Amino acid sequence: MGTENLILLLVEAGFYFVFMVGILHLRHQLGIGVFVAALGVMHFLETYLAAVFYIELPFGVISPGSSVLFSGKLMMILLLYVKEDAAVVRAPIYGLLAGNFLTVGLGFLLRHHQTVSAVPGRLADLAFIDEMGWLMLWGTTLLYIDSLAIILLYERLGRVFKHSTAMRFFVSGVVVLTFDQIGFFAALHFLNGAPTAVFWGGWLAKMMAACAYAVLITIYLSYSRISAIPVSPRPISDIFADLTFRERYEDLLDRSGRDALTGVYDRSRLEFEAPRMLSAMLVDGKPLALMILDADHFKDVNDRFGHLAGDGVLKDIAACLQRSVRGNDKVFRFGGEEFVVICEDIAPEVGAGRAEALRRTVEAEIRRPDSAPVTVSIGVANSYSDGTTLNALLSAADARLYAAKNAGRNRVIFD
Ligand code: GH3
Ligand code: MG
Ligand code: MG
Repeated sequence: MGTENLILLLVEAGFYFVFMVGILHLRHQLGIGVFVAALGVMHFLETYLAAVFYIELPFGVISPGSSVLFSGKLMMILLLYVKEDAAVVRAPIYGLLAGNFLTVGLGFLLRHHQTVSAVPGRLADLAFIDEMGWLMLWGTTLLYIDSLAIILLYERLGRVFKHSTAMRFFVSGVVVLTFDQIGFFAALHFLNGAPTAVFWGGWLAKMMAACAYAVLITIYLSYSRISAIPVSPRPISDIFADLTFRERYEDLLDRSGRDALTGVYDRSRLEFEAPRMLSAMLVDGKPLALMILDADHFKDVNDRFGHLAGDGVLKDIAACLQRSVRGNDKVFRFGGEEFVVICEDIAPEVGAGRAEALRRTVEAEIRRPDSAPVTVSIGVANSYSDGTTLNALLSAADARLYAAKNAGRNRVIFD
């Protein structure tokens, strides 16, 4: 009997593994959502089985819910991390947590219905749904910690097992599943009064699962020829977000296009960003405004107070612009003491008004070292009447800036 159960259990694990890894492997064709949704759907069955479905094996009593499904899921999450990154892994974890909160919330509301029996003798077992809900909530909270821990541990173990991916998966699985078994058993014991034998049986089954899945994953990884992620000397105190390659990349991208003196976007970023903003606005049929601001008589500041003081004033102007622009407006340092501001989805007259507001704010807030106000002249162009390329807008705005200078400075010209 026990042996038959064991064989069946191994077949289940194999079936689960091949199916889940299959859709993970095909994620670029199917979309990652297929894998994530399948992982989510399995959660109810997994928790249900872990609560009430137990089988006898030669070494004890276990549940396929925790051995095949839960251990499998944790290993799948680690595999997803290895293939993608922590940002992708977070989606199913947060999704499961959110879905289980919803289950518990709905269970709470549903119980207030007056129900009727549509099929004689069959009524919903709300107490059971409640119990499942709480167990799933606890399970996903644990899963959150487990996932974090298994990824960190996997990273750490890279230094110990440099050449054995199987060992990295196995040891990570053993440690985290042991921790998980303690946490999940505590809930089972508290909610269902599960006896201690359930703990040991479940633990042993999870260890076997860690072993089986580690072997299967290693076979899969060598087949798919994607070796484990490189070993990196990261402190264990690194938080989840720090493991996220995509976030690091985006952070790098964000810092790379910035002007060293003022911290606002630089000219190269303008060349990169503006065409994208323009085409997005064109697609939506919305106008965009571009303004060039040039500090008035800035050479005087340098001549009288030195270049460093001039730098300080430039920083103040940039910070003032960054503070004063709205929502999605972007500020770029265009050249020496010239800045470009781009405002999306803005009517031409509103763009002119916003430029006027910026001019006034600079005049009111920015001071030279001798406390005299610093002013700017602004030329404004808009995609509605001045063209729809960056060059067309820049040259229209530049011509108006020149006109503003000629007209006496400290003013806005927009047509
Ligand atoms: P206006 O624009 O009103 O015609 O007069 P202006 O004095 O500002 O004239 P212009 O645009 O010709 O001069 C810009 C000056 O800005 C020249 C240069 O010394 C100064 N400048 C440009 N880049 C920097 C910088 O990074 N730091 C400092 N301190 N000064 C800069
Ligand atoms: Mg200038
Ligand atoms: Mg100037």
